Amino acid sequence: MEEFDIPIKFNQKITNLKKEEDYFVLKSDSEVFKAKNVVVATGPFHKPFTPSFHTKISKDIIQIHSEHYKNPEQLQDGDTLVVGAGDSGVQILNEISNTNRTVYFSGNTNISSIPQQILGKTLWWWFKKIGFLSVSKFSYIGKKLSKGGQPIIGTDVKSLFKKQNVICVGRTLDANKTELHFEEGRYKNIKNIVWATGFKPNFEWIEGITLNDDKYPKNYRGISDVKGLYFLGLPWLYTRGSATLGGVKKDAEFLSDYIEKLEGKPAYSNQLLKKQFA
Ligand SMILES: Cc1cc2nc3c(=O)[nH]c(=O)nc-3n(C[C@H](O)[C@H](O)[C@H](O)COP(=O)(O)OP(=O)(O)OC[C@H]3O[C@@H](n4cnc5c(N)ncnc54)[C@H](O)[C@@H]3O)c2cc1C
Repeated sequence: MEEFDIPIKFNQKITNLKKEEDYFVLKSDSEVFKAKNVVVATGPFHKPFTPSFHTKISKDIIQIHSEHYKNPEQLQDGDTLVVGAGDSGVQILNEISNTNRTVYFSGNTNISSIPQQILGKTLWWWFKKIGFLSVSKFSYIGKKLSKGGQPIIGTDVKSLFKKQNVICVGRTLDANKTELHFEEGRYKNIKNIVWATGFKPNFEWIEGITLNDDKYPKNYRGISDVKGLYFLGLPWLYTRGSATLGGVKKDAEFLSDYIEKLEGKPAYSNQLLKKQFA
């Protein structure tokens, strides 16, 4: 940061961003900022999502979203339900199943898993090696990959689902006080629920942009439909790697080059960016 002499403002959550004539106005609770270009890099995960019927569940049952889950000590004694078949869901299921309690698992069990390491190298090393992270979403393979589910990384789900104290119940359909309704039965004995049901994007604080059906901003490689407004770090912004630490570099370089060409003079030259990411 010193090298680039970037004036950083900590603890300034932007609550409104809009374009006024040819510059942007960004407002936080205490300050107003102006900028000619804005790159929104607020990450891919914003609002924790929980199915709406969670409000029908009895107050006697502890409900916690994976965003706030730290360890099984946050739970009360008794049977526990983990909802969600993503990486977080199966990791939490694994951890809770190692405590002496029955754990219900709600979600798709027809999922595959791959180990964290293969032949002594991390999965991310292999992903980079075979070019998996740089497959464009506009290519044939990219279109297939971006629409399909992805395997679980590092948790052996087949063995996990076979554990004696893990009961798989299919999707959670509804709830009525202490009774939970699943594709495969109804249960009244659950005392804790961990919702590992993911996140929804939130770009409502930005005025004038068009959102896609998935609620992410319409863009091409991060260039939005508002001149001077850019996005970085979104899932499949351009490649599978776009929302990963190992893959964001190419998108950042592309945007940097684009802004540089558009402006005629760069904020930070591409050489400096290359050096930073080397
Ligand atoms: C469970 C999990 C596991 C992951 N595992 C991996 C992995 O193994 N390998 C990998 O490469 N990637 C992994 N990722 C992805 C990786 O964490 C993200 O790609 C990375 O954190 C994105 O960085 P970012 O800077 O774009 O966004 P973030 O790290 O999300 O940072 C966004 C920042 O913007 C701030 N912000 C948000 N809204 C506003 C606002 N309105 N005003 C001001 N500031 C705001 C936030 O407070 C935050 O500081 C994982 C993600 C998760 C959730």
